[in-house]
Amino acid sequence: MKNTTVVVGGGIMGASAAYWLSRAGRNVILLDQAEVPNRHAASGDQLRIFRMTYGKDAFYTDMAAKSLPLWSELSQQSSDKFLVQNGFLDLAVKAHGYEEQCLKVLKDHGRPCQILQKGDLRRYYPMMNSRAFRFGLLHREGGMIWAMRAVSAILGLCQRKGVKVRSRVEVAGVAKSGGRITGLKDRAGRSWPAEDYLFAPGAWTGQLLKGWRLPIKVTRQSQIYLRPPFNRGRYRAEHFPPFLIKSAGFYGLPMHIHGFMKIGELGQGAPGRPGDAPEREVSPAFERKVRAFLKRYIPELAGFTECEGHVNYYANTRDGDFIVDRLPGCSNGYLMAGFSGHGFKFAPLLGQAAAQLIVGGKSDLNLHRFRLGRF
Ligand SMILES: Cc1cc2nc3c(=O)[nH]c(=O)nc-3n(C[C@H](O)[C@H](O)[C@H](O)COP(=O)(O)OP(=O)(O)OC[C@H]3O[C@@H](n4cnc5c(N)ncnc54)[C@H](O)[C@@H]3O)c2cc1C
Repeated sequence: MKNTTVVVGGGIMGASAAYWLSRAGRNVILLDQAEVPNRHAASGDQLRIFRMTYGKDAFYTDMAAKSLPLWSELSQQSSDKFLVQNGFLDLAVKAHGYEEQCLKVLKDHGRPCQILQKGDLRRYYPMMNSRAFRFGLLHREGGMIWAMRAVSAILGLCQRKGVKVRSRVEVAGVAKSGGRITGLKDRAGRSWPAEDYLFAPGAWTGQLLKGWRLPIKVTRQSQIYLRPPFNRGRYRAEHFPPFLIKSAGFYGLPMHIHGFMKIGELGQGAPGRPGDAPEREVSPAFERKVRAFLKRYIPELAGFTECEGHVNYYANTRDGDFIVDRLPGCSNGYLMAGFSGHGFKFAPLLGQAAAQLIVGGKSDLNLHRFRLGRF
């Protein structure tokens, strides 16, 4: 008889872990309170950035590099090209800052990258106000991932491997006895018994696992989809990679859906919880901030007239590092959480690590930085 693992949460983390667990021979049941994928989840958006640049934090660069072949493998197996490597552009406003650290780490890791001087920026990205930048750093292995498509594709692979995916099952209670989880109860009163349990409930982690008082703060993140008012062709993905202007606190993605591109703010928004704001809200204050940012850096976009919002939620830890660990006081409960607005790109690697932890007690990836005990 195969051991059964119940995975709670069908976002990118739960889906990836379920995939690797099934590959390791587990009988897997994946439960999600909603349809999978769904727009309320952090994984429920069109695009997520794939970048290897993390300033001087080489640990994340290394993890992104390790994730890349896994994304390619998943994409190939599912015959869906959800990873698009159209490059990633970090734009430096000051010298000797984050971008120079990124450059050093990329070079140390032997990853191909290119410095774009002001003249290059003018030539390749004429929509950018090149005078506002010191230089650009382009790494061509970066790009973007079609997020909801990736979740669907991985869940499709899971199902092919026998994973039972059950949507609209909200886990409402976790029963514990003698240092073990003895079962889960869903909202309809059904029990879900298993040998092991992996929780990947995103922004709902604190609510579901109340008893553990987990150090996760949920914030409401606004993003704006806007239609470029001029020169639309310039914003197509083949000409315009996803970008980050770290010191301005904004990132952007090329035109990708019905002629709309996306601008998002890097920092944490106001505390919130999923469902507490209309999904398509664009607050006047956020719109003003985005216009001011664009006026400085991509002036021809600042006068956009067509836009729509998308509200999503970050599940933040205090230090911005993730949690992939066993649940305290519980020999058969595991947690993947606190992905703090930057976890998507690492999902196949972290899913694999979580599966190894559950099946074999340790993982190839060093999870020390993601242990719960650090808080
Ligand atoms: C605005 C925004 C921009 C981002 N940009 C990037 C980016 O560019 N690059 C990047 O790498 N990362 C990015 N991230 C981070 C990335 O999207 C997340 O780290 C990742 O999607 C988290 O996935 P998850 O599976 O942990 O959570 P989620 O995708 O939220 O999935 C959790 C799932 O659990 C289910 N669930 C919750 N509670 C229960 C319950 N009680 N019972 C059953 N099911 C339950 C939910 O319905 C949901 O489907 C961004 C995040 C946000 C919010």
